[in-house]
Amino acid sequence: MRQLTVAALLVSLSICLCQCGPGAKPSLLARGHATNQKERELEKFIAAHVKKIKPMSKAANLAYWRAATSGKTEDYDKLKELELAIRKVYSNPKEFAELKAWKESAQVNEPELKRQLDLLYNGYLANQIAPELLKEIVDLSTRIEQRFHTYRGTMDGTTVTLNEITTILTTERNSHKRELAWRASKQVGNAIVGDMLKLVRLRNEAARKLGFDNYRTLTLTTGEQDPKELDRIFEDLYGLTNQPYAKAKAELDGVLAAQYGIAPADLLPWHYHDPFFQRSPLVFGLNLDLYYKNTDVRNLAEKFYAGIGLPVNDILRRSDLYERMGKDQHGFSTAIDREGDVRILVNLKNDEYWTETILHELGHAVYSKYHDRKEPYLLRDAAHSFCTEAVAMFFGRLSRNAAWMKEMIGLSPDQTAEIEKVSGKYMQLQQLIFARWAMVMYYFEKQLYTNPDQDLNSLWWDMVEKYQLLKRPPGAADAGWASKLHFTVAPCYYHNYMLGELLASQWHHYIIRNVVGLESDRGVSYVGQKTVSKYFREKVFVPGTVYPWNEMIKRATGEPLTAKYFVEQFVK
Ligand SMILES: [Zn+2]
Repeated sequence: MRQLTVAALLVSLSICLCQCGPGAKPSLLARGHATNQKERELEKFIAAHVKKIKPMSKAANLAYWRAATSGKTEDYDKLKELELAIRKVYSNPKEFAELKAWKESAQVNEPELKRQLDLLYNGYLANQIAPELLKEIVDLSTRIEQRFHTYRGTMDGTTVTLNEITTILTTERNSHKRELAWRASKQVGNAIVGDMLKLVRLRNEAARKLGFDNYRTLTLTTGEQDPKELDRIFEDLYGLTNQPYAKAKAELDGVLAAQYGIAPADLLPWHYHDPFFQRSPLVFGLNLDLYYKNTDVRNLAEKFYAGIGLPVNDILRRSDLYERMGKDQHGFSTAIDREGDVRILVNLKNDEYWTETILHELGHAVYSKYHDRKEPYLLRDAAHSFCTEAVAMFFGRLSRNAAWMKEMIGLSPDQTAEIEKVSGKYMQLQQLIFARWAMVMYYFEKQLYTNPDQDLNSLWWDMVEKYQLLKRPPGAADAGWASKLHFTVAPCYYHNYMLGELLASQWHHYIIRNVVGLESDRGVSYVGQKTVSKYFREKVFVPGTVYPWNEMIKRATGEPLTAKYFVEQFVK
């Protein structure tokens, strides 16, 4: 699901470019030539930079591919070495000073040069951390991660694995046993929280040296995200989901309480199947695997994408599709060279999960494949990591779409109606639950970096009560929250998963009304809709990162990113 990116590096490992790029078309931005001394200097800098970084980036992407497909330690070591070399390029203080001077001169105005300057500046800025401090940060983060992965929680003095905890939380009816399992899942938080907070303070120290109030602001700013804009989006989402969430959760509480033989008012966080209640408990009995059992998921995906005019046979030919010892067990998409070598890694089985996954990863892949290879190398990338995630989600969601299933695998009208009923309800609940959970992560992390010295343990439960409407457990609050690994390995990134969902819905709304030309999305499958691929290619894939993400979204949908279409689609 993930797209691997080296945090805040300009050349992200894995997103990339394209085989059947568009033909001879004029450039998107009026492309002139450097017209003054500063622009000429920058042009020279970019040429030298790309000459250096292009082969390094390709080598790192290939190393990642080899490591993920082989699982060999030597391949992972090679990858680490290449990533460090790339990071070193972006940490060069002399080059950063040059970029800063060009930016401050206000004399770089040619649109493509200006855009590349902004991207380069952000890429270098995020890496201007003194080597000793950077080493301290990397070492500490590695130590926490290691401790996290080797830690085993205990129940009544006996160690339990994560799989055992999951089984108890999804099947056990006895509340006491559930509580013990839930607490076991959080114990690692207490074990690492001291180091975690040390890491937060080090990150803040690094950010302050660069003139930012804290690390979160640095991360958002260099990722071209305005903290105020994000606040606005999350506040809207909060207001729009308040009532529907309360209603859906009350219904779910009724079902769960009956299963445990307790009153809904007595439900506590360990009654919700997932340690953080970020996923919906599967209480509505939806088993779509049945319908995919007799299909070939690979062919299904290939046929669908070809049908809408985004052929993926070249991508599939280079890809690694089936399970093997040592291979990465998840899924990802990678663009090796921004010249057309795009691949996905999945572990296909003929079931719903892998149908969603292959549709999702191929969504990332077609985004990379159709960037305009006539654009400068640095602009052949997704507008933002959450935008490629949104394309992937847009297509991945189809695996549960009854109309899509009907057309692609030939369901009867009765089967279609049955799926429609259950899957619609399940999708709504799932999306609402995730949205409210994402708010906890968003607002908590904001506070965490603003003031790591406050009482974070009780702050966590304030947030959980406010956004998820769960009850805090009796007794003193502990640091269970720190058991969410994202705080350590992907700081200030979680909101992007939510933004991806919002954008996927915004495209869905826009395409239904303005591209396919319908009043509502009832019964829409997108099967065979070539206008959809034409839209995505022209408005999203080809522009790459020529425009900042919100500019791209405005051009593609007529308005900036908004929560309202997500709400329209999932909050009824
Ligand atoms: Zn993804």
